[in-house]
Amino acid sequence: MTTHREPLDSVLDTIGETPLVRVHAAPESVPVYAKLESFNPGASVKDRIGKYMLERMLERGDVSEGGTVIEPTAGNTGIGIAVAARQLGLQAVFVVPERFSKEKQQLMRALGAEVINTPTDDGMGGAIERAHELAAELDDAVVPQQFANPLNSEAHYATTAPEIYEALDGEVGAIVAGCGTAGTLMGMARYGREQHPDTYVCAVEPEGSMYAAFAGESPEEADYKTEGIGTHNPATNELFDPELVDEIRAVADRDAHDELKRLAREEGHLVASSAGAAAVASLDVAERAARGDLDLPHDSVVTVFPDSAERYLSKGIYRSFEQWEG
Ligand code: PMP
Repeated sequence: MTTHREPLDSVLDTIGETPLVRVHAAPESVPVYAKLESFNPGASVKDRIGKYMLERMLERGDVSEGGTVIEPTAGNTGIGIAVAARQLGLQAVFVVPERFSKEKQQLMRALGAEVINTPTDDGMGGAIERAHELAAELDDAVVPQQFANPLNSEAHYATTAPEIYEALDGEVGAIVAGCGTAGTLMGMARYGREQHPDTYVCAVEPEGSMYAAFAGESPEEADYKTEGIGTHNPATNELFDPELVDEIRAVADRDAHDELKRLAREEGHLVASSAGAAAVASLDVAERAARGDLDLPHDSVVTVFPDSAERYLSKGIYRSFEQWEG
């Protein structure tokens, strides 16, 4: 979103500058603010990395105009890359595990990309492998590989974080964000720790995900319905830096689902399950700080609501917890 006061040349100019809105369930003394990333043209936080990574890769000569970008993705990154690819003169191919939302796959195709499905049981690891195989078969093809590409977190260091700090005049006490690739959290955490070394950083994952292994814990692996965050295989992630994280919080699917419904009903936010999980963790950090159980350099918590519930209506996101397919 921009101020939209002047005509813009391209849809790429509408990426970023999203609104930062207060979450009213937080204690008065420690407000929580959420960055509403569904305001981007592809309706998710991933438009930021689509634009940023492709522009930098073209500048560096990793790929040239007319070349192909191939990415393993749960969906939103595909949409973000597809939005940017066409405008920058690139072809886009996405490798998506079957279980991910059909809406996302339709949108990638509508944006002119090719979508290839891999079996759900092969997980993101299977999709990553297939993407590299395909790239090896083509001339001038590149795999940005969001799970391993520093440009992913750099996009958030360069855009998401400074926008938040500007909106709050630098007064940010804690940064809380869901981790899929962890690009969003890592970019914001690095920026935040530079502003204030004691900035509290909380990584959010669904219960059953394995990010806590980075903190030396042995979480119990299980399936989860929350989409876009978490990992079954931390080894495929090269961005997550435990040094930049104070807490890894696992949120139960049921709590994320209750919260995403509450956010719609009470606060007017049509956000999805990863935002529900981020809100649960953010409210908890704010409540602990308000009680005096947690010391923050400023009395505020910021988080990101990565996308919109409309993307998951076919999975029954607003039905009962049992009926939500996740
Ligand atoms: N929520 C949703 C819905 C997502 O698609 C993603 C990206 N996988 C995230 C959160 C997490 O973002 P990141 O990859 O930057 O950790």
